[in-house]
Amino acid sequence: MEDSLKPALYVVATPIGNLEDITLRALRILKSADYIAAEDTRHSRILLDHYGIQSRLFSLHDHNERNRRVAISEFILSGKSVALISDAGTPLISDPGYHVAAYCREQGILVIPVPGPSAVISALSASGLPTDRFFFGGFLPVKSKALREELEHLRLVTATSVYYESPRRILDTLAAVAEVLGSDRRVVLGRELTKTFESFYDLPAGEMIAFLREDPCRQKGEFVLMIAGATESKDDIPQEVLSAFRIMLTRLPLNAASALCAEIFNVKKNELYRRGLEFARDAEDHEPATESEN
Ligand code: SAM
Repeated sequence: MEDSLKPALYVVATPIGNLEDITLRALRILKSADYIAAEDTRHSRILLDHYGIQSRLFSLHDHNERNRRVAISEFILSGKSVALISDAGTPLISDPGYHVAAYCREQGILVIPVPGPSAVISALSASGLPTDRFFFGGFLPVKSKALREELEHLRLVTATSVYYESPRRILDTLAAVAEVLGSDRRVVLGRELTKTFESFYDLPAGEMIAFLREDPCRQKGEFVLMIAGATESKDDIPQEVLSAFRIMLTRLPLNAASALCAEIFNVKKNELYRRGLEFARDAEDHEPATESEN
């Protein structure tokens, strides 16, 4: 008989490929939980059988989690423990569980993380890209316009950006990266992490497309797409200079404000002038519509 757990929702990370990647604590909690809520019960059975875990399983996926959240919370409030797992990695990270975890917290129920693998962290940790700051965007949009808009946001992002991507879409996505961010933007792909064919490919976006095309095997499996941050160009103007420039613009015409700011801070007048025009355009776009008088 396993130790009983205190009543709570346990959010338990499971392997992303290699079955050895599970913590001792995760195994103990999965063994002791009254119930395990799994994204796909048949898929999770393989892992649970491997470790001789016999706790009762029920399914919790995108299509039923809103309906099941009340029953799960009542179950925990009645003194039971529920472990939440997904098909791979950490639940809620591009996986089901958010509605249940949020609802349990709202009800004052303990929600306890049991940390372990996640593809985003595994990929980043071995990519060789800067990790001091990063942005994780989940899955990129499928539709071409939305995909390009999302990538547009990365033009000036200096942190590393990380996305999940499917083998079916990887070439199209890389083509969009090359088009929007430039074919020389550095990209690192983490493929089949922790599995037999684990690979890291580190190339400029344009070359990465040719490299994957050369050998269709390189397009197979699961991918984490990491996009290096934008490098600051010579024309970039520090934020504090822009703040001062904005103040000058409230008192001086654009040309005079640009000249004065350029002289004080030793930055390019033309670039300031261009930014000034952008500020004016943005201000017009955001001007509230005039309310009609009653
Ligand atoms: N919750 C999971 C986590 O914590 O990483 C992610 C689940 S999400 C539905 C699945 C996506 O994660 C895949 O399409 C792939 O982009 C990425 N992924 C999962 N396992 C991976 C692996 N072993 N190697 C590379 N990417 C992986």
